[in-house]
Amino acid sequence: MTVTTGTSMAQSLFVVDDDSCYGCGACIGLCPTSALSMKGLLAMVEQSKCVFCELCIPSCPVDALDIYAR
Ligand code: SF4
Ligand code: SF4
Repeated sequence: MTVTTGTSMAQSLFVVDDDSCYGCGACIGLCPTSALSMKGLLAMVEQSKCVFCELCIPSCPVDALDIYAR
């Protein structure tokens, strides 16, 4: 699924797959808006800060990060 432009951006949802994430922390420091943080061994996103830049997504070794239309 690709959601990259215009109105659909505002309707996107950034998702951390909590079954896959093992808390390596690789994604956290890459976020330009500090939307990502660690809670125990799980990456958490603050939806209101995420601008869907996708910078963090390739950093995850287990593909736990994704953006969906909602
Ligand atoms: S998509 Fe961009 S803004 Fe959103 S959490 Fe990832 S790095 Fe941060
Ligand atoms: S890079 Fe992936 S596995 Fe590592 S903390 Fe982020 S979401 Fe979790």
